[in-house]
Amino acid sequence: MRLMHSILSMILGFSLMSVTYADKADGGHEQHAGHRHHDAHVHGMATLDLVMDGEALMIHLQSPLMNFLGFEHQPETAQQKHIYRDMLQQFELLETLLTVEGASCHAESIEIDDVFANQNEAGHTDIDISYFLRCEQPDKITGLQINLFDIYNRLELLQVQMVLPSGQQQLELNPQRTTLRIN
Ligand SMILES: [Zn+2]
Repeated sequence: MRLMHSILSMILGFSLMSVTYADKADGGHEQHAGHRHHDAHVHGMATLDLVMDGEALMIHLQSPLMNFLGFEHQPETAQQKHIYRDMLQQFELLETLLTVEGASCHAESIEIDDVFANQNEAGHTDIDISYFLRCEQPDKITGLQINLFDIYNRLELLQVQMVLPSGQQQLELNPQRTTLRIN
């Protein structure tokens, strides 16, 4: 869901395109526009952007596919296809990502970008997932319990950027620290 990603990025104030277009007339070296967040591709790490606005909670997860699959190429063997299908099914559930504490939220949409469209020339692939949640009594939310670390043990570090009614925050989660405190 590119639109939501763009909105989230704008709100969070960082650039969606981390790569500038090459000036070919200048004979400069060719850049690979479109491989956004290219520099952020580190196995074991992922990013989570989160914006809370009224009853809406918008979340964008970006991660090397390695963290969830153990490989980043198109699934080939029966076992790889199984692992891949299993991951896609897992991410249809909000609970795979997180559990909301203190209030009731439901996922209005969970969208996974075309996974292998993001593969770069070195064979690295990111997965992008956008969540749109609607919450009853959002002011009662006390925390977000991130469940990813329990399910995917290759994930070691989650860099979080949040825009909450109380302000903007950046922090890091890891298998020992999995809760985002809110309010
Ligand atoms: Zn990779």
